[in-house]
Amino acid sequence: MARYVSLEHIKFLLQEVHAVHDLFQLDKFSHLNWEQAWMIIESAKQLADRDMHPFFREMDVHNVHYEGKGGVKTHPQLKTIIQNGAAQGWISGSAKLIHGGLQLPMMIFNSGHHIFSSANNGAIGYMSLTAGAAALINSFGNEEQHNLFVPNMYDGKWQGTMALTEPQAGSSLSDITTTATPIGDGYYKIKGQKIFISGGQHEACENFVHLTLARIEGAPAGTKGISLFIIPKFWPGKNGELTYNDVFCAGDFQKLGQRAYATTHLVFGDQDNCKGWLVGEPHKGLAYMFQMMNEARISVGMGAVTIAQAAYYAALEYAQERPQGRLPSEKDPLKPPTLIIHHADVQRMLLTQKAIVEGGLALSMECNRQFDLAHGANDNEKQEAWLLLEILTPIVKAWCSEQANRSAALAIQVFGGYGYTMDFPVQQFYRDLKIYTLYEGTTGIQSLDLLGRKMSMEKGKALALLVTKINESIKQARSHEELRDHANLLEEEGKRITQVLNHLRTFIEEGDVDRYLSDATVFMEMMGNIVVAWQWLKQSVHAQAQLKAKHFEHQQREFYEGIIHTMKFYFRYELTHAEACAKTIMHPDYLINLKQNEVLF
Ligand SMILES: Cc1cc2nc3c(=O)[nH]c(=O)nc-3n(C[C@H](O)[C@H](O)[C@H](O)COP(=O)(O)OP(=O)(O)OC[C@H]3O[C@@H](n4cnc5c(N)ncnc54)[C@H](O)[C@@H]3O)c2cc1C
Repeated sequence: MARYVSLEHIKFLLQEVHAVHDLFQLDKFSHLNWEQAWMIIESAKQLADRDMHPFFREMDVHNVHYEGKGGVKTHPQLKTIIQNGAAQGWISGSAKLIHGGLQLPMMIFNSGHHIFSSANNGAIGYMSLTAGAAALINSFGNEEQHNLFVPNMYDGKWQGTMALTEPQAGSSLSDITTTATPIGDGYYKIKGQKIFISGGQHEACENFVHLTLARIEGAPAGTKGISLFIIPKFWPGKNGELTYNDVFCAGDFQKLGQRAYATTHLVFGDQDNCKGWLVGEPHKGLAYMFQMMNEARISVGMGAVTIAQAAYYAALEYAQERPQGRLPSEKDPLKPPTLIIHHADVQRMLLTQKAIVEGGLALSMECNRQFDLAHGANDNEKQEAWLLLEILTPIVKAWCSEQANRSAALAIQVFGGYGYTMDFPVQQFYRDLKIYTLYEGTTGIQSLDLLGRKMSMEKGKALALLVTKINESIKQARSHEELRDHANLLEEEGKRITQVLNHLRTFIEEGDVDRYLSDATVFMEMMGNIVVAWQWLKQSVHAQAQLKAKHFEHQQREFYEGIIHTMKFYFRYELTHAEACAKTIMHPDYLINLKQNEVLF
C-alpha cells in the first residue's frame, strides 16, 4: 500500500512540539494517558488501511449521484465506513462522557480524522459533519433533543448536516430567507430551500438531522434575526417509528472533486408539512452555528494540508523511481538517465510541498491544542487559549487551504504529463482540494475576518498574545546556536505586522474602511507566512534538542535533520513572500479601488 500519511510526524507534533501530555493533567482529560491515546491513533490507521484507503479512487469513479424521487446513490462501501468508524468512536470521540462520547482531546480526535482524510477524504466528511451537528445539540439543545437524536447520530445510523447556504445567500448569511412559523411548544413550520448541503439525504443512513438556519416570522433583519432548528427528514415516534417530515432532496450537485461526498439541494415544506424544533433561544442561531463553523474551519485547514501531504508522498515516490535526463554537469549522452529526484528543480518542488504540508499540520495541531485548552484548562489559561484560537482560526483555514492547492499542483508537476492523467492519484488530490478554499467561508471572507475583526479584537489583545507566543519560540530557538540566525530572521519578519497595521490604520482614521480592507487577502498571506514560520521554528527547537540529546535511532536522526532542513528551506523560499505582501499592501497606488474600477474590467 502506498504511503499516504506519516504517523512519525503526528507523534512528533503531539508528543514533542505541542506537548499533548499537558492535557492529560487537566480534569477534563485525566481519564487518558499517552499510551492509550497512541493506541487510539494506531487503531485509526488500521481502520483507514482496511476500510477507507483501498476505496479512495473507486469512490471517485463510481461517484455519488441523484437517482430521482429524492434518492441519492452512494458507493456501497460508505455504509461500512460510517458504521465501523462510529463503532470505534470516530463520531462521538470528542464529545463529553456525559453526552455518550469518549471525551478525547481534539488533538487526538483530529489526528484520527487526519489519518482518515489522507486515506479517503471524500468519505470522512460524513462522520465529521455528524460529530459537529451532534456537538451543537449537546451544547445548545435541551436534554429531550439530545436523547431523541444524538445516540443514533453517534451510532452512525443518522446523519447530521449543517444547512446554512441558500441560492441567494452563501457568504452573506444575513440574507437567508427560509422561514419558521411558530406552531407551539418550541416547534415551527419550516419553508425554504438550502443548497450545497454536504452529506444531505443519501442511502447510507436511515435518517438525517439537519441543523438548519431560518428566520422566525417578524425577526429582526440581518444576522440578529437568525435562529437554529433541528429539522429531521423523519420524526422519530415513541416506538421508534419514523414519520416523513417533508424534507425533499431535489438533487445532488456533480462536482470537480470530493465526488464520494454528497452535496445536496434540500427543499423544506414543499407540501406545507415540515416541522422544525428550535434549538436554544430565538435569534441566536448564527452565534450557536459559529461553534460548529469554528471547529469545522480548523478541520478544513487541517484536512487541506492532509490531502496535500498524500499528494506529496505520491510525488516523492514517483520522483524516486522515474529516470529522466541528466544533470547539467553530466556531458556524456551515453550515461544512463538520472532519477528525477536528483534534479534541482524537482527537489525544490518536493521541498516546497514538505514545507507547506508539515508547516500547515503543525499550525493545525497548535489550533487543536488551543481548542483543548480553551475547553478544559483553568480560567486564565482558557481565556488566553480562546483568544489565540480566535486569531489563528481564519489563518489555519485560509492559509492551509490556499497553500495546499499550490502544493498539490506541484505534486502534479513532479509527475510531469502522467500527473495530469487518470492513471495516477495526484489529479484526484488536486481536484478534491479546490473546495477547501471555498466551503466554511471562502479565503476572501476569512481574510476580512482576520483583518477586519481579529486584529483589533479585545483592543489588539489577541494579536499581542500571538506575538508573545512567537517571541517565546524565538527565545527558545536562540538557545541553540544552530537556530540563532533563523530566530533573528523571524523576529525581523514579525516587525512587518506592526509596520503594515500602522500603515493601514491611517485609512481607518480617515474613515475609509473599504480601502483598509481592500488587501485583506494579501494581508492574510503575509500573516500565514509568518505564523507558519513560527511553527517551523517551534518544530526545529524540538528537533534540535533531540539531535543534541542523541537518544534516537538512525532513522529518527534523518527525521529530525529533515525537520531542520525544511525549516531552513521554508525561511528562504516561502517566508520571503511576506516582504512582497507587505510591499504590495503599503504601495501608494490604489489599484483595487472599489469606487472606480468596475469600468476597467
Ligand atoms: C461542495 C460544497 C459543499 C458545501 N457544503 C455546505 C454545507 O454542508 N452546508 C452549507 O450550508 N453550505 C455548504 N456549502 C456552501 C459554501 O459554504 C458556499 O459555497 C460558500 O460559503 C460561498 O458561498 P457562494 O457559493 O454563494 O459564493 P458567494 O458568496 O457568491 O461568493 C462568490 C465570490 O465572492 C466573494 N465574496 C462574497 N462576498 C464577499 C465579501 N463580502 N467581500 C469580499 N468577497 C466576497 C467570495 O469570496 C467568492 O470569491 C458547500 C459548497 C460546496 C461547493
